[in-house]
Amino acid sequence: MSDKCALCNELNNTRHVAYIGEHVFIVVNLRLLKPGHVLILPKKHWESFDELTAAEAKEMFEVIEKCSKALKIVYGYYPIVAINPLTRRSEKHVHIHLLPSDHGLRDYIATYENLPHNEEAPSEIREIIKESIAKAMNEIE
Ligand SMILES: [Zn+2]
Repeated sequence: MSDKCALCNELNNTRHVAYIGEHVFIVVNLRLLKPGHVLILPKKHWESFDELTAAEAKEMFEVIEKCSKALKIVYGYYPIVAINPLTRRSEKHVHIHLLPSDHGLRDYIATYENLPHNEEAPSEIREIIKESIAKAMNEIE
């Protein structure tokens, strides 16, 4: 735990914490994009997802599923589930955003980036992308 971490401090904020599990908790986002915007995060102050223990990672995905069902009950929509890369996180403490929406992630990104919503990509382009990513994956320890 880091005293300076706003998300670590939220664990004790009974006004905003919606659920506390063994390793994971749900907090209503301070900077709400809309009602139902919550964060799921580990109790421990990890700054990278590969630091999570197997038990923590398993519980995070279980809580995503359960919270998604809860958001559907409360707001009528399942959520978009999103994770920012480290460089784009406002807080270093790893967290997952859940945002109730009648759109899927594809529609959100396509609209924001002004891209086709559902156009099939040529196989050759997909293969070039695959080769580039596979090569880069091998270069990372
Ligand atoms: Zn923290």
